[in-house]
Amino acid sequence: MTERVDQYFGCSVFGDRMMREYLNKETYRELKQTIREGKELDISIANQVAHAMKEWALSKGVTHFTHWFQPMTGITAEKHESFISPAKDGSALLEFSGKELIKGEPDASSFPSGGLRATFEARGYTAWDPSSYAFIKENTLCIPTAFCSYSGEVLDKKTPLLRSMEVISTQALRILKLFGKTEVKRVVTTVGPEQEYFLIDKSLYLKRKDLIHTGRTLLGARPPKGQELEDHYFGNLKSRVSSFMRELDEELWKLGILAKTEHNEVAPSQHELAPIFTTSNLAVDHNQLTMEMMKKIADKHGLVCLLHEKPFAGVNGSGKHNNWSISTDAGVNLLEPGDNPKDNAQFLLFLVAVIAAVDEYQDLLRVSVASAGNDHRLGANEAPPAIVSMFLGEELTNILDSLADGTDCPCKAPSSMLLGVNLLPPLPKDSTDRNRTSPFAFTGNKFEFRMLGSSFSVSGPNFVLNTIIADKLSQFADSLEMENDFSCALSKLVKETYQKHRRIVFNGNNYAQAWVEEAHRRGLSNLKSTVDALPAFISKKSIDLFSKFNVLSETEIHSRYEIVLENYCKTINIEALTMTDMIRKQILPAISAFSGELARSAQDKLALVPALSLSYEKNTVTELSRLTDSLASAVAELERKVVDARMPGEVLQVSRYYHDQVLPAMAEVRSISDTAELLMGEQYYPIPTYEHLLYSV
Ligand code: ADP
Ligand code: MG
Repeated sequence: MTERVDQYFGCSVFGDRMMREYLNKETYRELKQTIREGKELDISIANQVAHAMKEWALSKGVTHFTHWFQPMTGITAEKHESFISPAKDGSALLEFSGKELIKGEPDASSFPSGGLRATFEARGYTAWDPSSYAFIKENTLCIPTAFCSYSGEVLDKKTPLLRSMEVISTQALRILKLFGKTEVKRVVTTVGPEQEYFLIDKSLYLKRKDLIHTGRTLLGARPPKGQELEDHYFGNLKSRVSSFMRELDEELWKLGILAKTEHNEVAPSQHELAPIFTTSNLAVDHNQLTMEMMKKIADKHGLVCLLHEKPFAGVNGSGKHNNWSISTDAGVNLLEPGDNPKDNAQFLLFLVAVIAAVDEYQDLLRVSVASAGNDHRLGANEAPPAIVSMFLGEELTNILDSLADGTDCPCKAPSSMLLGVNLLPPLPKDSTDRNRTSPFAFTGNKFEFRMLGSSFSVSGPNFVLNTIIADKLSQFADSLEMENDFSCALSKLVKETYQKHRRIVFNGNNYAQAWVEEAHRRGLSNLKSTVDALPAFISKKSIDLFSKFNVLSETEIHSRYEIVLENYCKTINIEALTMTDMIRKQILPAISAFSGELARSAQDKLALVPALSLSYEKNTVTELSRLTDSLASAVAELERKVVDARMPGEVLQVSRYYHDQVLPAMAEVRSISDTAELLMGEQYYPIPTYEHLLYSV
């Protein structure tokens, strides 16, 4: 690519610039209005937009189109159709109608629905979401769509997010109106997800069934060198990695994705990509595309990109930091401390709304980041713990504490001034005080939710965030709208809300055991695994919340609950089967071959020199034989548990069985196998070791 970046940036997106160019003024205006008001698209406009999109796409050599959607598998789905249709004279016409643009009918029977859609009612439909731009990927025009069952239940990740964006906009507008900001017509949430990943050599990857089938290593002793020297973080990029990153950036830029920073992460072979933030729905599309491109481009460079949360034991896992904020249609960030007392008061109100939401719905935030893969990360000494808490930084905490307690703030403003909302002291603009261990940190003008797993769609955590905060804003608006003395009521509301929810604020070290105890005293929940977390999703409180705002119905919540837990069971089941396969077909025979080799060579030596002690051979053969026996019985035990796990049962019960019985059985197998690995000659170990995998690029 020799063109300047600014010339090809967004060249594969039918965004605002292309819309202006390809649509007549009137259609453009109507489309924009439809998007702005979230209305249904008129078929006559759809026809014109479809025609324009087709012309644009054909000019770029595109031959096919697809409705691109985000089913509950967590990855994206597409079914390609060509533009071709027959003409009367036997030639081909290139057609794309408004109807094809706005609605598709993929056979939906093979996507997870959590019992929502029986296979005989296989039809589902996809509907264009005009607020997300169409784009070209591999000669195909991709139209971002929502995915529903025929009876209207939501079957995808995108729809609840779009609904939650509407909900938070409506509620935030009520608050802004109270502050006299009637010019604001819409409020949007913004997201910038920082994406972590590993890159390893493809030829080594192909030799490991566990990586191929499960995305993570199920066996493997620690390498002599891990991440202890901290020499990888921000280190020089190896040339293969940097050429991968350059190509990735170029492809993302063409798709209008603002890939901004790329660097090495803490663990060997681990890296991170951060884009510039954008509107939540686009950020979700962009992050899905980023993950897809990472995999595709890695492959071109003889690499494999691992997006699993914990590909390797003993070194850091991968997460995704979800930077979140809320701003007006004019781009004014509502979490930015203001320049004047009135804006500061407004800032504080939005801030305590977030504090209250995170405290009251901590369980739902935990649910939104639950998966079998992320369970290996949360709570380990590298990632935020499973306990949800918030970091606000010292200055902000002091200000809120003084408000709540009526004491003098260490920032010198007398409490009397703090309590009069019109006289709030200037707030710190730039909180340099960074706490890397907090699961939910205020970083100056946005919140960083750090519990997401690297392979997640960011949609789930964001629709939960938007909805819980909207709920608080709605309660605030309900109470403030009734008051005559706005200033006084506002001051009281900020104070009382903080008093009630301050237990969620914790600025200390979240990795310390002392915090686990302290959090327990504060009554915060500590939901250690997916199985512990998920029941909160189907609680009355959760159903009331999501159905009140029409983000998800009770039926949809139950279906999602089933899908998450079924996925949890399936994931562990595949891991357990892969592990038994590797142990029986690769590891046990290898240990046996190595011991046999030692025994034979000992006998040869003994025949030559009868007085030799041969203690290495004797001890190693003895120890490996002992390990072989225990490994064989541990793997048999694991197999029994896997069979038992398949007994029919209620999904939570089955998940619990996988968690309590299958996972520990796997840990036992691994521990024996890894001990044996360390005793074996390297060329006898049948799969690439950690040392080779982690230093392969
Ligand atoms: P860090 O110090 O955590 O590496 P930065 O402050 O550079 O990060 O930002 C991290 C991410 O936060 C980037 O993706 C950035 O675009 C995003 N971000 C910045 N402002 C906002 C905002 N208002 N809303 C959402 N995301 C934001
Ligand atoms: Mg960050």
